[in-house]
Amino acid sequence: MSLAVLLALLVSAAPMTLSVRWEPRVLHPGDAAMVFLTGLPDSKIVEGSLAGQPLTFFPYGDGYAALAGMDLEVKPGTVTWRVGVVDAGGRPLKASGTLQVRGRKFPVQRLTLPKEMVELDAPTLRRVEEESKHLRTLYATISPERFWRGRFTKPVGVSDPGDGFGARRIINGLVRAPHAGVDYSADAGTPVVAANAGRVALVGEYFFPGRLVVIDHGLGLYTLYFHLERADVAEGDRVERVQIIGRVGSSGRATGPHLHFAAHLRQARIDPAGLLQLKLPE
Ligand SMILES: [Zn+2]
Repeated sequence: MSLAVLLALLVSAAPMTLSVRWEPRVLHPGDAAMVFLTGLPDSKIVEGSLAGQPLTFFPYGDGYAALAGMDLEVKPGTVTWRVGVVDAGGRPLKASGTLQVRGRKFPVQRLTLPKEMVELDAPTLRRVEEESKHLRTLYATISPERFWRGRFTKPVGVSDPGDGFGARRIINGLVRAPHAGVDYSADAGTPVVAANAGRVALVGEYFFPGRLVVIDHGLGLYTLYFHLERADVAEGDRVERVQIIGRVGSSGRATGPHLHFAAHLRQARIDPAGLLQLKLPE
């Protein structure tokens, strides 16, 4: 009897056990993580949560996986995860545990911007509030299908590694919201590509983001592309990874041409650099 056959017999005779693996195991504000469940083919129900936030599992390899995000302002400490499965035979299985969230030092950016981009008159303030409300509603919309496949790609072909994620911003001497994306400096007109496959959820002209494209990758994951010179896609379009979606510009509140690239996962503002580093087989 070959070793492979022997192993197959042993596996088929063994009772199903729920094996849960987190990657990475230690988290920081802004991190994206994957949780993998193995050993349970054809399970009927797979659900779970991390820090009270639901995890959306999808079939992956010979098991299931889910992406989880830590918001950039999450506090260090211990967070609890929980997974519940009803296996192919109808048997309920449960597992739970904890993960550590460590602190992360973010840079402080002091910026001086033209007064009209900081001190907003009442109609502009209303516009900004409506735009941010619309974006929040969008990020809270969870498409039930996973569109992304494999690794996420840097959206501009420049050597700049990108910076500024989580930066505490002091603009014209006043503390403002932290910077929730990565800025890549690039010449105006540089092609901007989709970081992964998805559906174009929004193309617009917003006060701070300027011309923007938002891609829905499904299961609560969105990527954002701001300050574009132009957009080459329309709302509702399906896009493939590395498909050109627009060009770098300096529209909105920008001091020069650059791409502001950001990612939201179930409303957590995550570091897109971490998303790009996840090792995700096709
Ligand atoms: Zn930015």
